[in-house]
Amino acid sequence: MKDIKGIIAAQRAFFASGKTREVSFRRRQLGILRHAVKENEKSILDALYADLRKSPYEAYLTEIGIVLEDIRFYMKNIRRWARPKRVRTPYYHLPATSWIYPEPYGKALIIAPWNYPFNLAVAPLVPAISAGNCAVIKPSEFSVNTSEVLADLFGRYFDPAYITVVTGGVEASKSLLAEKFDKIFFTGSPTVGRIVMGEAARHLTPVTLELGGKSPCIVEKDADISLSAKRIVSGKFINAGQTCIAPDYLAVHHSVRDQLVDEMGKHLRRFFGKNPADSPVYPRIINKKHLERLSGLLEGTTVIFGGDHDPDTLFFSPTLVTDMALSHPVMQEEIFGPILPVLTFDTIAEVIDMVNSRPKPLALYLFTSDPGKAKAVMKRISFGGGCVNDTLIHFASPFLPFGGVGNSGMGSYHGRYGFDAFSHHKGVLKNTFLIDFPFRYPPFFKYLRLLRKVLR
Ligand code: NAD
Repeated sequence: MKDIKGIIAAQRAFFASGKTREVSFRRRQLGILRHAVKENEKSILDALYADLRKSPYEAYLTEIGIVLEDIRFYMKNIRRWARPKRVRTPYYHLPATSWIYPEPYGKALIIAPWNYPFNLAVAPLVPAISAGNCAVIKPSEFSVNTSEVLADLFGRYFDPAYITVVTGGVEASKSLLAEKFDKIFFTGSPTVGRIVMGEAARHLTPVTLELGGKSPCIVEKDADISLSAKRIVSGKFINAGQTCIAPDYLAVHHSVRDQLVDEMGKHLRRFFGKNPADSPVYPRIINKKHLERLSGLLEGTTVIFGGDHDPDTLFFSPTLVTDMALSHPVMQEEIFGPILPVLTFDTIAEVIDMVNSRPKPLALYLFTSDPGKAKAVMKRISFGGGCVNDTLIHFASPFLPFGGVGNSGMGSYHGRYGFDAFSHHKGVLKNTFLIDFPFRYPPFFKYLRLLRKVLR
């Protein structure tokens, strides 16, 4: 394992040198990052194939391209975001002026999961750099190939006193968390999120927790069923369902249930062929343990599509299941794999109550042509973020905050929200020596009547 105390000391000195305070330095580093990603695209794609058998198209779309686009967006905006911003001043402070100075926290720790092992390690780094921080990245021990590529790439293009990768499992993570960072950005499960927050609390380090959970997908009878089916299965089965914001379960109006299931089957066959095991674009489960957990979830359900799996090849077919109680494990734990439970409902109010009786989800997807129903769901259900009439694509907007709420996380990132997640906003009031009001100084009693008029 790397000398963690040494890394921390080096990063502290690097940050103290003031280099990262210069916007030109940050932009240059983003440029180096972009260049490094482009120059090493092949090894990143190969690693993602080795870890999850992601096809080059899927890997470029969901891991590399999206990060390059992020870098471009930050390079374009960082100067504006980093500038001190003048804001309004209340009349009782005039003629003073008021300012917000965004400043970097210092040393950031980024802990990443295995499912989008490149994206979820590098996407938080982009705002960390943009906001002027040094960073340590701790990728997942399960996506070994990508973790090695990350360690190699950052080792070659960046000074470790500025940015470095620490590979390893829980022990490496724990040793890092024992040190004082100035910001921790964690992506992973709610269980580990609690541990991370507990460790952060010891140093009063601010955290962003990007967690998971069971994200509902609701289909009303007035939706375009074929298009809904297509968008649901594409969002659910990309990365073989190992996506934090994948629809976790489906609640469909009973009158269109059979049609929707039929259409989902048709689209799945179009996407991955009759035998998805032979498809060049269908990924694999990360490891045997997860595959066995998934196959256990099928017990006590009725499989209405797919269901095949093979522990030797880590293949798990796109699968639809039904006839399970809400207390069944498949409706209790985050599935995080290619199994989609299908439930039916009579009224949207019923679904709203069901979702609200559970922990707040990371994402929610609603398919309907009725803006009234969309309004009711937005108003009555609290969730991280989501889409109406689509799945997943809210993740790819730099204008939308991405993050969970309650059990699915705290804080957000992407675009400006990412810059803010890695910045402290220092609020400063600049007064003048020109005027000095006597009523702010003791003894106050003479001015109580005046004060009542001013602060009313
Ligand atoms: P995980 O929580 O098991 O691991 C995440 C990271 O934490 C890894 O780097 C791991 O080494 C580290 N870790 C594990 N145990 C630890 C401990 N006891 N102390 C300190 N560090 C520890 O998550 P995972 O299995 O890699 O990923 C799956 C979970 O991540 C799912 O719940 C999924 O929904 C969630 N997720 C969320 C997002 C998001 O953007 N919100 C994205 C992807 C995944």
